[in-house]
Amino acid sequence: MTETHRAYRNRSVLVSGASIAGPAIAYWLHRHGFDVTVVEKAGAVRGGGYPIDIRGTALEVVRRMNILPQLQAAHVDTRRITFVDTDGSIIAALSAESMAIGADGDLEVQRGDLTETIYDAVRESVTFMFNDSIATLDDRTDGIEVTFRSGARRTYDIVIGADGIHSHTRRLIFGPEEPFHHYLGACFAGFTVPNHLGLSHEGVVWNTPSQRAALYAAGSGEQVFGLLSFRRPDLPFDVLRAPDAQRELVAAAFPDECWEIPRMVAEMRAAEDLFFDAISQIRMPRWSHGRVALVGDAAYAPSFLTGQGTSLALVGAYVLAGELATRADHTEAFDAYDRVMRPFVTLNQKLANGGDTPLFPATYESLHKRNTALRALSTLPAEPKNTTYSALTLSDYA
Ligand SMILES: Cc1cc2nc3c(=O)[nH]c(=O)nc-3n(C[C@H](O)[C@H](O)[C@H](O)COP(=O)(O)OP(=O)(O)OC[C@H]3O[C@@H](n4cnc5c(N)ncnc54)[C@H](O)[C@@H]3O)c2cc1C
Repeated sequence: MTETHRAYRNRSVLVSGASIAGPAIAYWLHRHGFDVTVVEKAGAVRGGGYPIDIRGTALEVVRRMNILPQLQAAHVDTRRITFVDTDGSIIAALSAESMAIGADGDLEVQRGDLTETIYDAVRESVTFMFNDSIATLDDRTDGIEVTFRSGARRTYDIVIGADGIHSHTRRLIFGPEEPFHHYLGACFAGFTVPNHLGLSHEGVVWNTPSQRAALYAAGSGEQVFGLLSFRRPDLPFDVLRAPDAQRELVAAAFPDECWEIPRMVAEMRAAEDLFFDAISQIRMPRWSHGRVALVGDAAYAPSFLTGQGTSLALVGAYVLAGELATRADHTEAFDAYDRVMRPFVTLNQKLANGGDTPLFPATYESLHKRNTALRALSTLPAEPKNTTYSALTLSDYA
């Protein structure tokens, strides 16, 4: 490594967003010798959310972060998924093995357990600014001047946007979200509900081609995670920032008087932890401009239909930090990040199959096909799997 490379490591980096991609890239940048600040608009690292998967190449990232044992201890160990018909009768109950859950050491952890574990690994070494966010960015030849909503002002060498699918950093640098937002024709609402069915380490899924309702018990506790997804041809962009309108939209999409639906809708209306979003992907021709780069959902959200959002965020954070640590300057590093990550991102985004997956079949034909396969108690209709999850081999970036 040349002197130029070594010098580059002492630079200052501002990361926007403290969920998964943000603290993960902060961890790696600090390990490579950068001076890192993370700004998060919420008052703390936010817990909650649906159990998420860490698979393939991302498993190697968390192993290299030395957090694999904590995550293995937090593994939710789903033992069964039951698919029910519209009237609530059982189509099939599949064991974890037959669905390849936990295969190849894959982990499923509650989102909050992952954010907390990464935050714990980095909180002592990195400066966190909560309850604040970037107001303006002025990218100059000698650095990027940032003003914060709090009024603070500072110059950094690099800014990383890790602020999610509706990234504010992306908007400041690349303009409005719409050209990059590829709506897959559906929305979802996630929230906590009482465990009325006495579920334990299992999920129950109810589908029509236009609706999907699911209850997931990460353990045997009194609360489970409820998920209501529904198709809608047009993207209700205005609703994404209006919680009351979201509740009305979800309720209107689930008028059904069957299975657990009325109870779930009532609980969704009252939920304090409602998480609503469109089922969409972010696709961009470039993930960087000047001294700013994007990572995680901000750059390449694959949608929860792929189950790969968290894994892409973890791998992207590792690669971007590693390229910044080993290239002569940020321009070279951002180009290399793009070259390394893009084929992996493209493959993983394809798993969403335009919104028609065994998780959420889009037509009566594909629903019937899936249910027939389930009734035969085989595995779920085949989808490209392990090779996609581990299609990227990590460099060492030592
Ligand atoms: C509270 C929460 C609950 C979630 N629950 C689910 C779920 O149930 N199902 C699912 O599929 N996905 C969920 N997600 C999304 C999931 O975490 C991501 O898809 C994935 O893990 C990629 O992570 P990320 O770090 O790139 O983005 P995200 O996890 O979306 O994190 C973005 C972070 O940036 C912060 N942020 C946003 N705007 C600004 C700003 N202007 N300034 C500073 N910080 C900002 C956010 O508060 C958040 O902490 C949830 C995200 C959050 C924040």
